[in-house]
Amino acid sequence: AKEAGRNNVQFYTRDITDRAAERLRLEADLRCGIAHDALDVHYQPKIDLATGRIVGAEALLRWLHPERGWIPPSQFIGIAEETGLIVPLAEQVMRKACGVATRWNARGEEARHIAVNLSPSQFHVSHLPGVVQQVLQETGCRPDWLELEITEGLLLVNHAATLGTLNALSQMGVRIAIDDFGTGYSALSYLTRFPIATLKIDRSFTQPTSGSQKNRVLVEAIVAMAHGVGLEVVAEGVETRELAEWLAGIGCDMGQGYLWSGAIPAHALLAMETHARGG
Ligand code: C2E
Ligand code: CA
Ligand code: CA
Ligand code: CA
Repeated sequence: AKEAGRNNVQFYTRDITDRAAERLRLEADLRCGIAHDALDVHYQPKIDLATGRIVGAEALLRWLHPERGWIPPSQFIGIAEETGLIVPLAEQVMRKACGVATRWNARGEEARHIAVNLSPSQFHVSHLPGVVQQVLQETGCRPDWLELEITEGLLLVNHAATLGTLNALSQMGVRIAIDDFGTGYSALSYLTRFPIATLKIDRSFTQPTSGSQKNRVLVEAIVAMAHGVGLEVVAEGVETRELAEWLAGIGCDMGQGYLWSGAIPAHALLAMETHARGG
């Protein structure tokens, strides 16, 4: 037993060093990938539930690693945040997304926005309104074609600075969305204190689970509350037609999910018809 114990310790320490080495490798590769533009942005359409029309899209990072293939954001966003790489990376994402929004809206149909995810560290270090202003100018993107998704946690710390940044963005005409709503410490007062346009209900509320029935009660309440204070609501993770119809029935504004489409390359988004299939 003593032997086995010692072996376990050895395994454990080797496991830790392996993981540290693996992380360092990934960090170096990420640096290289950013420098060589190996990270791409894909777009997931957002559907107006009442009309079935595509009204926007969310920009989602995709990394094609030279040896490992596609690496999901969950495996590198954290590293990017801790190393500060998120700042140049996020600017690339925003520039690409705004360029796509400009091309998408060039046809002069009803305005469609592209939503970009903002990480908390990026929000604080990078003089965000100035960067956004510059990207909009360079890409010819109208401010209301851009939506910025932030998470609830951001609103709980450093109120004055956060409020200042959000007000500056909102006054420029950029829309602010709360991402993953319902998973953080929802202090509901922030919904009226900050200039928020959209709530995105986290997909844990829409995925089929044992708690589905209760989750529907919550979703209905969130939609009613959001509308009561003048916000639009997006349901994330919509995978079935039945759910989409139910959401439309309770007046949820928009849906996003595999029922219509996952995230697709820019050219595919631009080639999509106005009406979503599936829904
Ligand atoms: P998120 O912002 O909540 O993005 C939605 C995630 O749900 C995406 O995963 C999307 O592919 C996935 N999804 C969409 N529809 C469905 C569905 O019907 N069912 C299910 N099960 N999943 C669905 P993805 O692309 O892997 O991104 C994961 C997270 O990584 C994102 O969560 C976001 O927090 C982060 N992320 C992605 N791109 C960026 C970025 O450019 N910047 C920052 N800061 N974070 C990003
Ligand atoms: Ca998001
Ligand atoms: Ca989300
Ligand atoms: Ca609507």
